[in-house]
Amino acid sequence: MLERLNEIEAQALKELDQVSSSEELQTWKTKYLGRSAELGVISKRLRELPKGERPAVGRRVNEVKSALDTAHDERSGALRATALEHTLRAERIDVTLPGRPVARGRLHPSTLGLRGILEIWREMGFQVYDSREVETDEYNFGLLNMPPHHPARDLWDTFYTTEPGVLLRTHTSPGQIHVMRERAPEPIRVVLPGMCYRYEQITARSEIQFNQIEGLAIGSNITFADLKGTLNAFARRMFGQNVRTRFRASHFPFTEPSAEMDIECFVCGGQGCSVCKSTGWLEILGSGMVHPTVLENGGYDPREYSGFAFGMGPERIVMLKHRIEDIRYFWGNDLRFLEQF
Ligand SMILES: [Zn+2]
Repeated sequence: MLERLNEIEAQALKELDQVSSSEELQTWKTKYLGRSAELGVISKRLRELPKGERPAVGRRVNEVKSALDTAHDERSGALRATALEHTLRAERIDVTLPGRPVARGRLHPSTLGLRGILEIWREMGFQVYDSREVETDEYNFGLLNMPPHHPARDLWDTFYTTEPGVLLRTHTSPGQIHVMRERAPEPIRVVLPGMCYRYEQITARSEIQFNQIEGLAIGSNITFADLKGTLNAFARRMFGQNVRTRFRASHFPFTEPSAEMDIECFVCGGQGCSVCKSTGWLEILGSGMVHPTVLENGGYDPREYSGFAFGMGPERIVMLKHRIEDIRYFWGNDLRFLEQF
């Protein structure tokens, strides 16, 4: 019997060495220390042994049991320590790692261009006047000196709504009439930014939607010299103090006389390059003295008041500045383009 107890102890300790999880440990415990384990059975049957053997066997049973108990507890502690170490290693937090950047949106290049230009006009004392994008034919054309069948309308074909005479504005100029009718006969210094629409073939150079910034100044004794001085001041702030400008006679139905303003090409310095198409000049805006008919439509007496107006395209200026060669990038929703700004 004593020999059997030695065997049990040796076998149990050997198996305990192989145990590598708490589940296996539990199984081991049931097998060697549980109610129906052999050790327990021997203990219960002690009285069946001859009297002389009982004390020695009883003592040995207790020794083995206590040895196994101790071994179990040690093993259990070791397993817990290993498990903890595992968890710590697997879930380790390195507080010295740099944080993950949060992806933030950014402003569209058109918006950036628009705001940059508006900021200059703001400094020069012009208010921003917001005007509607859906207009009537009367405001978009008629009141701006383009009656029905006027040939200039052909250049500005647009999107018409199902409502007769209601359309998407082709330029920001109808805002001129709105602001004049609201303020007359007070003097006016405003810029009118916003989206315009044209029914056009979409190409690298033309889009069906684009921003425009219009400007309007009205008061007594405003002359063409004021127009030139103001626009030159703008060009210096926008393109640098040394920029050279020139005015070329032009025609718009709502201004008389009319002029386009060019700046000296900032890419080649006037030498001629592909950006300025070898002319040395870049066209950046159209302008003119407000046509007497338009003044009258706005509620100003043209014998008493005069004014100038101008209009420019922020996208065109952004394109020139960043040498973007295709206007379709602006509304193409391609992040590879948009993320560069
Ligand atoms: Zn050039």
